[in-house]
Amino acid sequence: MTINVNEIFHSIQGESLDAGLPCVFIRLSGCNLRCSYCDTRYAWENGIPMELGEIEERIAFFHCNLVEITGGEPLFQAETPMLISRLVTLGYKVLLETNGSLDIGRVDENCIKIMDIKCPSSGESEAFVLRNLSLLNPRDQIKFVIADEQDYRFSKNRLPLISPHLAMDHVLFSPAYGKLPLDRLAGWILSDGLKVRLHLQLHKIIWPGIEKGV
Ligand code: SF4
Repeated sequence: MTINVNEIFHSIQGESLDAGLPCVFIRLSGCNLRCSYCDTRYAWENGIPMELGEIEERIAFFHCNLVEITGGEPLFQAETPMLISRLVTLGYKVLLETNGSLDIGRVDENCIKIMDIKCPSSGESEAFVLRNLSLLNPRDQIKFVIADEQDYRFSKNRLPLISPHLAMDHVLFSPAYGKLPLDRLAGWILSDGLKVRLHLQLHKIIWPGIEKGV
């Protein structure tokens, strides 16, 4: 069984509650969405078919227990849940970054899912699968990438849908890089008394302007 891989690299985890920790990233190829601000368009197509064993060997090289499966959209490939379960069984702490538009029901319950709800500025705000909320575990996280005030209001209005399923400190409000000043988003969160987590794309602060492999 093969999976199309775009890149495998060792970096700093930038977009989750594990932000700041060294992490191995497995970027899978293909995506079912076309977000306006996508910074990984190079992963929409192509990719190298790799056997699971080959992927395991590549990540073992880094001697790092934290692994994130990202994309593109990792669940676009039917084999991805199998890769996740293999890595969980091998003892890795596995994170899955997913765009929220595909069913997460086949994902190993020991994998931590970081699931987007796409805002209007992405052009894909209709894509979210509502049923996914009921499939979340307490360690999972939901992320909104917010580019403007309309996106902020959209995100805020979705909190009542999320609160029965997930603690608010696992809801990440992240400013779209270069589009919304951090202090403006912080001000809105504080003035509305929200309990969500202001979230930075740490890797973009460490390596500004570099797109691949960070
Ligand atoms: S879901 Fe992610 S990879 Fe796909 S288009 Fe949107 S930002 Fe890009």
